[in-house]
Amino acid sequence: MVSDSNILYGGDYEEPSCISFGELIFRTLKRRREEVLIIDGLTGIKFTGNQILNSSIEIANALRNYGIKRNDVIGIVSENRIEFVKIAFATFILNAQLSPVNYNYVKNDLSHAFNISKPTLIFSTTSAIKNVISTCKDLDYVKQIISIDEINSTELLSLSAFIQKFSFPFFNINSIISTKVDLKLQTAIIFLSSGTTSVAKGCEITQYNMATCITAFQKRMKFLKQFSADGKIMTLNITPWFHVMGMVNIFSILMCDDISTVSLSKFEPKVFFGCIEKYRVISTSIPPPIVVFLSKTPLLNDYDLSSLKAIFCGAAALKKETEDLVKSRFKNKLTILQGYGMTETTAGIIYGVYGKEVPGSTGMLEEGIYAKVIDEEGKSLKPNQIGEICVKGNRIMKGYLNDPKSTAETIDKDGWLHTGDLGYYNEDLQFFVVDRLKELIKYKGFQVAPAELEGLLLSHPKIKDVGVIGIPDETAGELPFAFVVKQDGIEVTAKEVKEFVKKNASNAKWLRGGVKFIPEIPKNPSGKILRRELKNLYKNFKAKL
Ligand code: AMP
Repeated sequence: MVSDSNILYGGDYEEPSCISFGELIFRTLKRRREEVLIIDGLTGIKFTGNQILNSSIEIANALRNYGIKRNDVIGIVSENRIEFVKIAFATFILNAQLSPVNYNYVKNDLSHAFNISKPTLIFSTTSAIKNVISTCKDLDYVKQIISIDEINSTELLSLSAFIQKFSFPFFNINSIISTKVDLKLQTAIIFLSSGTTSVAKGCEITQYNMATCITAFQKRMKFLKQFSADGKIMTLNITPWFHVMGMVNIFSILMCDDISTVSLSKFEPKVFFGCIEKYRVISTSIPPPIVVFLSKTPLLNDYDLSSLKAIFCGAAALKKETEDLVKSRFKNKLTILQGYGMTETTAGIIYGVYGKEVPGSTGMLEEGIYAKVIDEEGKSLKPNQIGEICVKGNRIMKGYLNDPKSTAETIDKDGWLHTGDLGYYNEDLQFFVVDRLKELIKYKGFQVAPAELEGLLLSHPKIKDVGVIGIPDETAGELPFAFVVKQDGIEVTAKEVKEFVKKNASNAKWLRGGVKFIPEIPKNPSGKILRRELKNLYKNFKAKL
């Protein structure tokens, strides 16, 4: 396959030995039935493989009897909590498709998200359900909203009431689970991602993508066993499960023998450190803003964090200086391994390898993954030459849901996914990500698509034109910043613009970077915003401050 010496390969992998992803989880949880797999970090409640398995089967039973069939879409708008895992697993059991959505989304974002995946049924929690209900009033494809929490309502069903109402006494899990699917074609999850351009799209991650990802996770985590007296690895899970990084993480943990996790739904420093101390956590996966926090906080000295041996960091760039600083602050020998990937690549496909880690590097290619770095003409480059990173292989999404145009713009006819990230690899095949070609802004690891913000801002009657960019920020990575052209002869203030976004977009999209009024947005002859020019404009304007 590899005739071009500038194409790298991460090595062979085992084909998944299952007839469906649900069957793989089912089999694993049966084997791990006695083990505590997830501990809720806030309440301390422990969940065994058996409990997760039985409740997931109960939900699958009710879903099936309600009428959910293979390929139907089930929405979930929830923070990390045990029901999320059970609903996801129940969805996989039925070979239906899960559509996880950020629970911080406001109405605009939610309707955009739902209109992509068109869920029949949506599960949500108190944190988001009001927005979900008001959004779904206008969406006729949503047949039922279910509250994961108990509620007092005549219109809504709670999860427990749903199970009670729709459970079928003769549900035969063994016959359901023995349904064979084509793993490579069967979409498991529809994640939202703006990819390299424009607004969020539905990224179809197949059961094959998930299954191969989990096998790689298993191998990647093996080295942690040396740090545990009984060979059991306790991890701490905090990345949101509606994002690919969190979802892959939690399911990988469920599926990997000897690995368990303490789960948290949000980052509260004292709870985070308290959990590491109490449960003797060995490793955690966190985004760069939390690593930045670790590099500074005095709280580090108030806890016994000696069990923590490895931090996996991904979702956005992490500076070498921050990495070095955190390592020097931990008295125990701490390894930081970066991971690089996208929603479209089922999370990380390039990872730091224990024993070969290079600070600042995002690591080496994982098994089953090909990569090349190309110049503007598409020619593959040699080591140490910067270009666009392109990848191919077992973890690459099926495509964008109902959007062949965007799919073809991202995955070329030879199967190469053009990441929109600029980077290089060195002679030791270690990758370095240096910049982003694409429009995407990453605020604390969360995606912000400039096109979405621009669309929203253009709906403001006092705004004639707008261009949004990300500006660098030490803690958050990047902050959204808007260049705005006012309607002729009309006054509008930066405060008004910011307030408008605050009211109509979710937290990550707020214009924390600022607003600057300019007479015209630079564009090419076909009307495309010249974001590089806007970035230079920002630099000039910043230099004058
Ligand atoms: P998402 O689809 O939300 O996971 O975002 C994917 C994008 O995040 C990538 O295309 C990169 O631009 C960025 N990203 C992810 N991991 C890293 C990393 N380790 N270093 C730099 N950028 C990263």
